[in-house]
Amino acid sequence: MSDLRERPEANELASTPYYCKVLIDLYRDDGLTGMMTEDQLLAHALERIIEREFAKDLFDRALVSEAQIQEFIEALALEDFSYGFQGIPVEDVRELAEAVLPAETEGWDFDRSVGQFTQIALVSSTPLGKVQFSQEVMEQYVLGLGLIGSFEQRPDAFRRHLAYRQIPSDWLTLRIMADHVSRKGQFSQLGSLLFDAINQPASFKNLLQIATLVDQRPDSIFPKNLTIERQDLSGIAFKRCDFRGLSLRGCDLSDTSFDDCDLRETAFDDAIFRNTDLSGVEPSRLKGIRLGDLVRLYSVKVAPNRTLSNPAEVRTWLEGVTGEVPEIVEPCDAAQQLRYLFSKFVRPNGQARRSWLDRRGTLAGRKIHDPQAILTSTIRFRYLIQDSARDRIVRPEGDLYAEMVNYVKDLTLTRGLRALLSEACERPGCVHVPARR
Ligand SMILES: [Zn+2]
Repeated sequence: MSDLRERPEANELASTPYYCKVLIDLYRDDGLTGMMTEDQLLAHALERIIEREFAKDLFDRALVSEAQIQEFIEALALEDFSYGFQGIPVEDVRELAEAVLPAETEGWDFDRSVGQFTQIALVSSTPLGKVQFSQEVMEQYVLGLGLIGSFEQRPDAFRRHLAYRQIPSDWLTLRIMADHVSRKGQFSQLGSLLFDAINQPASFKNLLQIATLVDQRPDSIFPKNLTIERQDLSGIAFKRCDFRGLSLRGCDLSDTSFDDCDLRETAFDDAIFRNTDLSGVEPSRLKGIRLGDLVRLYSVKVAPNRTLSNPAEVRTWLEGVTGEVPEIVEPCDAAQQLRYLFSKFVRPNGQARRSWLDRRGTLAGRKIHDPQAILTSTIRFRYLIQDSARDRIVRPEGDLYAEMVNYVKDLTLTRGLRALLSEACERPGCVHVPARR
């Protein structure tokens, strides 16, 4: 079993008794050697599971084949993906089973076969009576197979699938897609799909994440004239990517990580830094990095246990790693606290977040400046409205809301916001937000 311990994906599979048995049998019969890759391991497990279903007489070979069962499972994974992995309604499962059964299957045979599909060992029922994959890693794998199938044969369906939602960057799904593209040399197809997906965040991010797993130099996969400026790159994990001299101006880098990447001379002006992870970048590979005035800085992780959210700390850190003095905008504590409060109602990119929050929620979290004092002034200046009956704090509408949005996005001070901060800030002669260059 020591082989299993060294393989996280096998380990996860082995945590379910059924899969554990499949893996032990696999080990006994073939030797689970170190030669086997993650996807080979899962391919083998999947094949075994389907064989067992026939051995247990769950399926009748006269009615369905292994290939049809696999086709059904792939369709199931794609369907679950479209539902946000919340499980698939039984009616949908029936429809998917019907689609793979031969057209001449009728009556009792038909009902029996459809029933068998819902009892396949890969899936189980949720408390709400939906069908879901019993094992996440198997679902990730099968989803990858389904996506490869549509990438090869049905490009329109592939585009539709990728637009459902962003696939988590650490999912096996993306790795097996990338392996497939590498093996088949389908890089130009991927590049042109990327071009088409520009400004469609989910598709673009899925394709870009796959591309980064295939090739390490992002600009080599981009068709000429494709710009990655002002794109939503949130949640993407870049690994060993060479961004030297590229421009990621205005991109949303919330929860984006750059592990072992080269960011020399890379332009990040006006990018959103929010839980952005630079801790895996060698300091020497940050030389000449252009971060602009960092007006959209929320937090940046600079070492495994060190996340900076204060602009002054970020400036000191940058000076240390680049040897240059950055000209970043450093709002005062009250101005930072105000943005933090507003950001509970407005996203960093200016999109609406929520229209109300209970009072406790507005005061929770970071305390750069007295949150109660900031909230009191904000309500007094009507940038938030107090709903005393329900103890809620409500977002305004119209011009005041527009001011809020611009303040969250770019720290734009209006006359009203300046008056608010002058009341709440205790620093004599403070300008709250220094003018941008
Ligand atoms: Zn101030």
